[in-house]
Amino acid sequence: MYDKMAMEKGTISVESQNIFPIIKKFLYADHDIFLRELISNAVDATQKLNTLANKGVVKSELGDLTIEVEVDSDAKTITIKDKGIGMTEEEVKKYLNQVAFSSAEEFVKKYKAENTIIGHFGLGFYSAFMVADRVEVITKSYRKNAASVRWECEGEPEYGIEKANRKNRGTDIILHINDDSKEFLEKSRIEQLLKKYCKFLPVPIKFGTKTETNYEGEGEDKKEIKTEVDNIINNPDPAWKKTPRSLKDEDYKDFYEELYPFSQAPLFWIHLNIDFPFNLTGILYFPKLSQQFEVQKNKIQLYSNQVYVTDEVKDIVPEFLTLLHGVIDSPDIPLNVSRSYLQSDHNVKKITSYITKKVSEKLQSLFKKDREQYESRWDEIAPIVKYGMITDDKFYEKATQFALLKSIDGKCYTIEEYREKVKPNQTDKHGKVVLIYANQEKEQDTFISAAKNRGYDVLILDQIIDNHFIQHLEHKGDNLLFVRVDSDTTDNLIQTDEVVESVLSEKEQEKVKTLFETVLNKDSHSIQLKPLTADDHPVLITKPEFMRRMQEMQRLQGMGGMEMPEMHNLVINSNHPLIASKLLKMKSEEKKQDFVKYLYDLARLNQQMLKGSELTSFIDRSLSFVS
Ligand code: ADP
Repeated sequence: MYDKMAMEKGTISVESQNIFPIIKKFLYADHDIFLRELISNAVDATQKLNTLANKGVVKSELGDLTIEVEVDSDAKTITIKDKGIGMTEEEVKKYLNQVAFSSAEEFVKKYKAENTIIGHFGLGFYSAFMVADRVEVITKSYRKNAASVRWECEGEPEYGIEKANRKNRGTDIILHINDDSKEFLEKSRIEQLLKKYCKFLPVPIKFGTKTETNYEGEGEDKKEIKTEVDNIINNPDPAWKKTPRSLKDEDYKDFYEELYPFSQAPLFWIHLNIDFPFNLTGILYFPKLSQQFEVQKNKIQLYSNQVYVTDEVKDIVPEFLTLLHGVIDSPDIPLNVSRSYLQSDHNVKKITSYITKKVSEKLQSLFKKDREQYESRWDEIAPIVKYGMITDDKFYEKATQFALLKSIDGKCYTIEEYREKVKPNQTDKHGKVVLIYANQEKEQDTFISAAKNRGYDVLILDQIIDNHFIQHLEHKGDNLLFVRVDSDTTDNLIQTDEVVESVLSEKEQEKVKTLFETVLNKDSHSIQLKPLTADDHPVLITKPEFMRRMQEMQRLQGMGGMEMPEMHNLVINSNHPLIASKLLKMKSEEKKQDFVKYLYDLARLNQQMLKGSELTSFIDRSLSFVS
């Protein structure tokens, strides 16, 4: 406790006497921010000293500049020590009293009306009072013959200041932790916070010591040697601050590992580095994404001059790129403001489009430089590219150069290349180029082979996002139409005016249809006779494209309740020998009906619609044929 009588006293210049309750209230959600703020100040003070030394203002050796953080749970204090520029008595009065308080006051006034303040703005030094009921500052300026001073404040607009006997340049901030904030007296909690906020600060930060184990000698003589070394929390020289030319692929991968331990190596990366019209550095990684979007645990981290700010970057990075990993560091992103402000901020808008541009340039250059390699990675980058094309028009324009369509035989094409390839054979009567696709290669095998037999090409579009992607390409692209390989019979996948004759007379056709209707009367199929080729199956179940897409959309949007039943068409190939001759020639009505049922079940089996007891009895029936 300072002797209130002996110390010089002053009143901190604020209009409101009640600034502390306001600080506490506003910062409530993020009490731990105090550590970041105080260490940032210590880093600033150290960097200022470096600058003065570079300019020749400070001539003496600077010595070790490590910042130290200490927790004393008995004394209930946290101390932050730096060897930076320190403060003279005048500076303490000026910076810690008037300036800081009045700016805090102004800040609170300005934003009082806003309910949506982002949780992580700081009031700098005064955020200490969120966790401490008493704060001491013992400081000595770098200036020649400056006397050291001790300042103390108990969280009311009154402070004490007196001469101290500190020998070395720098500042100690001692926080006497209040009863509500005891959690911060746990070393593990502080270490966790340091790792979160200070991992890449530009000055080494020491938190106690740690034991390092080394081995000496070989075999039986092998000795374990334990040494106590400084526990340095941070990497003061992270990769994103270096020039791309000085980094090898390994360095980028190592840094990824440093950011996200135990993750799969990234596919490739983009080193961001711009200082006009805004300042931004960073490295964005394309991660190995699995087929499905998974809940993201590795997020892009936002820094401001190497101080961690947040991993909520969706107002700065376009949404589709939040699937990327890595680091963005920009002092030009306003941090102490509300969301709505951020979205309309000029710099932020420019930053967003800069990032989008960089990503598309990178993809474009990878595609151009080594198309084979790009194609081999396409499945992994496709979700991001497709998501981007759907949500960002500017990106769409660029991405048409490097977005790929993959044919079922593994060949890749740009959208235009593919259009040109299939145009001659797959243009319908309305002049649309029809792109035939499968989404389950194995399950749709029969339909795929049938389409191939007709000379059509089949694409594989099996990612979750493809539903939307297809829709978007039809909407944006010029006269493109997508149809799934099982959406119709092959003769009708591409609608032309071609007419095929049926080998059956109208009367015979009517007979066949009636037969199917009697056997399957309980099913809600539309039954249709079509003269397909003898190579096509006798009975087919197709799922009309439009209806199916509607259902998929409904399912994807989670519109629960009553789901529409799946819509199918049952097509009977009147030109198939089993229909055209075998069925019609059968004598007994019972045999005919059994046969119809069997053909129908085969068609269902082909569409994975035969399940449970129906599947069992189908197999039993088949077994009886061969036994
Ligand atoms: P800000 O850092 O945003 O300017 P603060 O309230 O955190 O506001 O600090 C006010 C001022 O006090 C700083 O600008 C700096 O001049 C001075 N200061 C704070 N901490 C230190 C420190 N550890 N060493 C030297 N000066 C400091």
